[in-house]
Amino acid sequence: QVGIMSQSRMLHDKAFINGEWVHAKSGKTFAVTNPATQEVIANLPDMNHEDTEIAIQAARKAFDSWKSTTGKERAKLMRKWYELAVSKQEELAKVLTLENGKPLKEAVGEIIYSTDYLEFYSEEARRIHGEVLSSPIPSKTMILVREPIGVIGMLTPWNFPTAMIARKAAAAIASGCTCVIKPAEDTPLSALLLAEVAAEAGIPPGVINVVTASRENTPSVGEKLCHSEQIAGVSFTGSTAVGKILYKQCSSTVKRLGLELGGNAPFIVFESADLDNAVAGLMASKFRNTGQTCVSTNRILLHEKVHDQFVEKLKSAMSGLVVGDGLNPNSTQGPLINKNQFLKVSALVQDALSNGAKKVLGGEPHQLGGTYYEPTLLTGINPSMQAYKEEIFGPVAMTLKFSTEEEALRIANDTRSGLASYFFSNDLSQIRRVSRALEYGMVGINEGIISAAEAAFGGIKESGFGREGSRHGIDDYTQLKYLCFGNL
Ligand code: ADP
Repeated sequence: QVGIMSQSRMLHDKAFINGEWVHAKSGKTFAVTNPATQEVIANLPDMNHEDTEIAIQAARKAFDSWKSTTGKERAKLMRKWYELAVSKQEELAKVLTLENGKPLKEAVGEIIYSTDYLEFYSEEARRIHGEVLSSPIPSKTMILVREPIGVIGMLTPWNFPTAMIARKAAAAIASGCTCVIKPAEDTPLSALLLAEVAAEAGIPPGVINVVTASRENTPSVGEKLCHSEQIAGVSFTGSTAVGKILYKQCSSTVKRLGLELGGNAPFIVFESADLDNAVAGLMASKFRNTGQTCVSTNRILLHEKVHDQFVEKLKSAMSGLVVGDGLNPNSTQGPLINKNQFLKVSALVQDALSNGAKKVLGGEPHQLGGTYYEPTLLTGINPSMQAYKEEIFGPVAMTLKFSTEEEALRIANDTRSGLASYFFSNDLSQIRRVSRALEYGMVGINEGIISAAEAAFGGIKESGFGREGSRHGIDDYTQLKYLCFGNL
């Protein structure tokens, strides 16, 4: 109940299209609940393909003028967006915790991380250059210009409701693109608040549109975004299963596509590792957002000589975790986002236990009820278990033993996912070998937290393609046009 009434001003009840707050054409709404209390905190327009079409037209119209602005003009507006968002950090974080459940301190961290992208791409907007080529023919001048591709459809997940939008939208808008954003049905309020701040900063109507929809209407919004000829590209962060649907749908119009899908991160601790540092890295990578991140550690691979010691240290670190409502300042572990996620985590743990995993800590729903789950530590996992192959997305740490580097690499790479990976070692040649041998888009070396606006985030294999953050984040939203000037 904490302060919800006083926060109602920040909790929107309409979607945002063409700079206006609007209802669904059908007049229908869907409920957004606080996962910590199961209380309904807002009712939002349940939009479908019709409303999406209106948003696409607004974004298309806005693109005609936004694409002609200079990088410097865009940079200025985006800087303002960044500064305003920083000044409203607490408000943004509170809304985030209310709809997502993560501890307020983590929500503040996510807002800082999100504003980092606004700042970084406001700076990058002025440096989106083409190239003058070295022509092989004296009478021809060859130039590559970099152009924004057009309207981008963005579909984003609930685990980082603000950050996953900020890093897509900041890069797209800096490039001169406009966007239609469909936030996750569990967490649309953060998206609306971020769009409101953008409008307040002077980002013109139609550049950012937010279409809200329930899970039932989401496929109709997704299909519209994928099939519309007015949409130039789709950027998606979410599950591999949904990513594959969108990949198929986007073939109808041969769209540009960026996919940030699920991971199955290995976390390898070699014999030479500093165990305290490794445990700290594991705690950060495993228990942030109650384990609900696509770069969360999934399988912990421990060298046989350090296995028992690591498990002891981890057990003692985990006993410091505090489960509870994210608005309670002591909580370090919030609830899982919804019933489905709770059931999935419970089933994965049950399956691991019935296939021979040993329980060291937890393994049960938390006594607080709802979707709270106990921080859990299992040892002895093996490939027969679902949790070995699938992203757990919950507060469950699972270990296995290995004896050689070769074996560790074979296990680590034994997955169709290829997003984040981590390893801890103090052997320099091993660090060099292993960092090259891991088949992943990102490798944390003696480090459990790797994300930054300056870095390129993204996966390989079935974890998707495209990179977010860094100057390469611009690539998904721009295209090269070749101009050949003859006989001048
Ligand atoms: P999760 O299973 O963790 O909720 P999803 O991949 O299902 O992850 O959700 C990520 C985003 O994809 C959300 O915004 C969700 O609404 C959206 N989504 C889910 N199903 C579809 C679909 N069929 N078409 C388009 N978007 C979808």
